[in-house]
Amino acid sequence: MKKENLFIATFLGVALSFCACQSNDALNSEILAPEVEQAVSNEIESTDGLMQVSSFTSNPISLTDAEKSGLYLMREEEKMARDVYSFFYTKFKFRIFGNITKSENVHSNAVLRLITYFGLTDPAVATVAVFKDPTLQALYNKFTTEATTVDQALKTGAFIEEYDIADLKRLIAETQNKDIKLVYGNLMRGSEFHLKAFTGVLKLRGIVYVPTILSIEEYNLIIAKK
Ligand code: ZN
Ligand code: ZN
Repeated sequence: MKKENLFIATFLGVALSFCACQSNDALNSEILAPEVEQAVSNEIESTDGLMQVSSFTSNPISLTDAEKSGLYLMREEEKMARDVYSFFYTKFKFRIFGNITKSENVHSNAVLRLITYFGLTDPAVATVAVFKDPTLQALYNKFTTEATTVDQALKTGAFIEEYDIADLKRLIAETQNKDIKLVYGNLMRGSEFHLKAFTGVLKLRGIVYVPTILSIEEYNLIIAKK
């Protein structure tokens, strides 16, 4: 709660100071002030911390096929986000991509822990930028070839988070398993924070992000969340 307030306050403060005295050109090189950087890292760490201590209690042989395919999807979807942000970090050197890459790695590993608990086989390959799921492979290829500017990369980040939130919402509604619900709920919280971070940085750069998967009402609720 306090960290989030600090985050919002810092964002606003930085936004105002940039508006007052910085040209757009100055924003093109590197925009995140150390306080914003710290607030982003703190929030990601506190959400990700929840995922590292999960211990599961449900019956490990009780999963439906839909629950299994949901786990396979999310394991690779989180990896896809990780690999895209890692690509953007190398290409644009924006620290937000570096921070969120680490967070997506935690997310993908949280799903792997569930997969292992349920005695299933991990679908993910260790190689970066390679996916078993053809849809995710196509998305990775598209995202990394289409974004040629930092603003496009930030918008792609926000789009990926929307995509993630929509899938998680659907999968949470489809399962009764409390361990899966717990992990997906934490992943959702992480995605919402990433969405706020990407769109917050876009806002600092004078760009209003318009959601394309979530409804505007849903999006506004997430952005307003404390
Ligand atoms: Zn994630
Ligand atoms: Zn994310």
